[in-house]
Amino acid sequence: MFKIQDYIRDIKDFPKPGIVYKDITPLLQDPEAARKTTDALMEKIGGLKVDKVVGIESRGFFFATLLAERLNAGFIPIRKPGKLPYDTLQESYSLEYGEDVLEIHSDAIKPGEKVLIHDDVLATGGTAAAACKLVEKMGGEIVQCNFLMELGFLNGKDKLDSYQVVSLLSI
Ligand code: AMP
Repeated sequence: MFKIQDYIRDIKDFPKPGIVYKDITPLLQDPEAARKTTDALMEKIGGLKVDKVVGIESRGFFFATLLAERLNAGFIPIRKPGKLPYDTLQESYSLEYGEDVLEIHSDAIKPGEKVLIHDDVLATGGTAAAACKLVEKMGGEIVQCNFLMELGFLNGKDKLDSYQVVSLLSI
């Protein structure tokens, strides 16, 4: 039986000491596993209407594009500053030390559009919460925050408590 955890590799102390990095490249290498993962994400989405799927840089892009194709929705990238070529809106968020910024193209979402946010890992929730704020600034409605896995011990869901949050795996 397919188990997504068999395709996720733990890399200790990457990118810095104390972090266990969840490497999804084994999942991406295997077309059958990637297809079954997309099937499982689609089950979590159920009958929700989705106009745009937002993928968060960079590992969120992979399954966000696969989901967008299945849902017949548009794909929207949210990226780190300076990467998007057109006019952008920005949102900053706090990290353990300092802060970071995310950007979205200013024409990416129209008011009233239903938006699904996807990323590979939900950790502290700061990144996804900033992505939701960007979408809402543009008048989009978040219908679901969707992840491959959630690091439950970091309580990222607390930052997303006004949204539906789903993940295939909770660690
Ligand atoms: P956070 O804002 O703390 O929820 O962090 C989520 C973002 O950081 C996502 O874009 C993830 O790709 C990345 N991330 C956080 N922790 C990990 C981890 N242990 N392994 C891989 N990626 C991670």
